[in-house]
Amino acid sequence: MAGSTSYIVSVVIPLLNERESLKELFRRLTDVLEASAAGHELIFVDDGSTDGSLDMLRTLRSTDRRVRILSFQRNYGKSAALSEAFRVVKGDIVVTIDADLQDNPEEIPALIEKLDTGYDLVSGWKRKRQDPISKTFPSKFFNFVTSVVSGIKLHDFNCGLKVYRAEVVKRICIYGELHRFIPVLAGWEGFRISEKLVEHSPRKYGKSKYGVNRFLNGFLDLVTVMFVTRRAASPLHFFGRIAAVFFTIGSAICLYFLILWIMGRGLHVRPIMVGGLVMIVIAIQIGSFGLLAELFSARTERIFTYREYQIDD
Ligand code: UDP
Ligand code: MG
Repeated sequence: MAGSTSYIVSVVIPLLNERESLKELFRRLTDVLEASAAGHELIFVDDGSTDGSLDMLRTLRSTDRRVRILSFQRNYGKSAALSEAFRVVKGDIVVTIDADLQDNPEEIPALIEKLDTGYDLVSGWKRKRQDPISKTFPSKFFNFVTSVVSGIKLHDFNCGLKVYRAEVVKRICIYGELHRFIPVLAGWEGFRISEKLVEHSPRKYGKSKYGVNRFLNGFLDLVTVMFVTRRAASPLHFFGRIAAVFFTIGSAICLYFLILWIMGRGLHVRPIMVGGLVMIVIAIQIGSFGLLAELFSARTERIFTYREYQIDD
């Protein structure tokens, strides 16, 4: 724990209707951080709770000014909650943790210790998830696909408990439901990512805020992530390749019928001929879509992450 004593730690806690857990969470976080950090702040983001969570937070703040409160007028989602908090964190190290006590605050020092061995983000890995199988199985599948598609080697992308160097959270941009892909976004920016096994407890109070449709959304978001952030993929290269395949097959078919026609054979409509024409039309559609996307992305400002930026004025 030697390393973490020199850091100011900002803990970010997104919450939606978690009133019953807040007091215990506050106490456990405070105990752990007072023992292991040079200073800390607890940023609770109330994501539109309607169960009196905000009153509880006000009570906590009245006893401890290290409690900071952001409270949304309505429910905007966990990504919005995290990204608003990331804008105001003051610490060198940022920790995110769920408010439902499924993650243990006591594991934070070990995660920071791992960060100190040369990483920018250490994600918790709940190997034994204390959730129903309807959640654990899709989650395994989701993690596997995300890992393969993104090239980021983690087992558990969506663990609520993570520690980051402040640069990481100041840099990444999460909206929609992209909080599930924070390690992917950070990894692609060149930050060093690792994971550490953590315990996972069953939910004590309240109920999960996500149903199974999260997984469909998760996969759609994965596509978004691929397109929005993959630096290498130019849209025209991507769509152009698909268009080229359709165009090649389609024109080969039409060419065949053209040659038949030139050779004087009567031309009559056959299914394959219609198929060839349709493929050419599809190729033009996809190709021009790629061109549009390319024009659009050329107008989007690119943001680069620097390792060093030393220039004289
Ligand atoms: N949460 C939130 N806004 C939402 C949904 C969830 O701030 O729209 C919070 C929730 O209160 C909890 C954390 O995000 O602190 C994780 O949510 P949950 O425990 O429901 O997810 P699960 O553990 O089932 O994956
Ligand atoms: Mg939970």
